[in-house]
Amino acid sequence: MSIFEYAPAPESRAIVSLKPSYGLFIGGEFVDGSGSFKSISPSSEEVLAEVAEASEADVDRAVAAARKAYEQVWGKMSGAERAKYLFRIARIIQERGRELAVLESLDNGKPIRESRDVDIPLVAAHFFYYAGWADKLDHAGFGASPRPLGVAGQIIPWNFPLLMLAWKIAPALACGNTVVLKPAETTPLTALLFAEICQQAELPPGVVNILTGAGAAGAALVAHPDVDKVAFTGSTEVGRIIARTVAGTNKRVTLELGGKAANIVFEDAPVDQAVEGIVNGIFFNQGHVCCAGSRLLVQESISEEVLESLKRRMSTLRVGDPLDKNTDIGAINSAEQLARIKELTAAGEQEGAEAWSPPCELPSRGFWFRPTIFTGVSQAHRIAREEIFGPVLSVLTFRTPAEAVEKANNTPYGLSAGIWTEKGSRILAVADQLRAGVVWANTFNKFDPTSPFGGYKESGYGREGGRHGLEAYLAH
Ligand code: NAP
Ligand code: MG
Repeated sequence: MSIFEYAPAPESRAIVSLKPSYGLFIGGEFVDGSGSFKSISPSSEEVLAEVAEASEADVDRAVAAARKAYEQVWGKMSGAERAKYLFRIARIIQERGRELAVLESLDNGKPIRESRDVDIPLVAAHFFYYAGWADKLDHAGFGASPRPLGVAGQIIPWNFPLLMLAWKIAPALACGNTVVLKPAETTPLTALLFAEICQQAELPPGVVNILTGAGAAGAALVAHPDVDKVAFTGSTEVGRIIARTVAGTNKRVTLELGGKAANIVFEDAPVDQAVEGIVNGIFFNQGHVCCAGSRLLVQESISEEVLESLKRRMSTLRVGDPLDKNTDIGAINSAEQLARIKELTAAGEQEGAEAWSPPCELPSRGFWFRPTIFTGVSQAHRIAREEIFGPVLSVLTFRTPAEAVEKANNTPYGLSAGIWTEKGSRILAVADQLRAGVVWANTFNKFDPTSPFGGYKESGYGREGGRHGLEAYLAH
């Protein structure tokens, strides 16, 4: 129990001026779509705006606009000129950072502390970073004069709407490609504000096109014959469908898919720091994180101490209004995702694992789930194998480093992993054996535009971020 109660510290939403409805962003203008749908705030179920739904014909229009811009303007422009636009976009994102953060929290449900301090600064950083590459591509290690691919079709999920947009659009544009991007159905609003930022930056029409819509619009974009490159972030299931669609075509493809990361705590780890890392690993962004540390592997000799400390720390987490600056855990993104989390946690209890959550009151409207840990989890349990994509941690124990490595790698995924130990030599030895694209040591969920990110096995293929991220958008 805390001695003092927190007073509410709400961020004002006055800075966001939402229109009642939004069109598709094609050829530098907002145009009507064929249908429409509503985007709601998952913390209140309030309708935020009506958004156009793209049809196959709209996909066709957008791809044609992107092709025209590629051939007539962007593909011919010098890298130094392209960089000016990207720098301009990066600066506008910084200037309008608060507006973007509030809108992201409204539409997605994530705490303002995270959208303000993590998402939006990283979005700007990605544009600054790739702006810097635009005139240096000849020296990036992909041949003497690498060429752009053409039109990129990009599809992103709802967990980091604007950040995933930045991961996709910044390197594509830096390399001279034009894009058609489809945001997720539940979180289209910051992508539409980004479209306004493209107008403000006077980006040539058609270089960026934003198509809001459902899975069908994404599928039409992937299948479009005039798309040269497909970039997707989302579930392994949809990733498989996309891989099948592009098989046998000349399209290049990168897939960033799911994960079930092991966060490994050895007995010599500083426990308080490790507990902070465990909390950040699974409760950051409500656990809607593909690289979340969703499987805690703790050495048996310290498991009681770690669990006790973890429970104490979890009791201080504040769940509630995403726009309150004191909030640690916001709303689950959709009723659908909440149902999936409930289904998997129920399976965990049925299979004999034991759930624990700190006492906390949940708001009566919106979609909410208490931060939860499961102990007594075996590797065969569904909650140890399947991605829950929510604030739910499965705890397993191990005795030797070899056993930790074996358990960590016992998953079809391979996106990320964490190691907590005082020994540098152990970090190197264990990291070397982990089949994961990113391995964090004594930290977790650290992101930086200079660092490549991507998976092994069913977590996908290709890398985004860093110099490596350029390769996906260059012919060489
Ligand atoms: P999802 O169903 O795969 O959706 C991702 C995107 O693909 C959305 O824009 C979605 O549109 C679209 N889509 C759906 N069906 C499609 C199809 N047949 N063809 C083309 N596009 C299609 O994933 P989700 O359930 O929204 O997101 C959660 C999942 O994403 C988790 O499994 C998580 O692991 C994964 N994820 C991975 C990463 C990574 O970097 N590896 C990052 C974030 C999330 P709609 O929104 O309209 O359905
Ligand atoms: Mg929404």
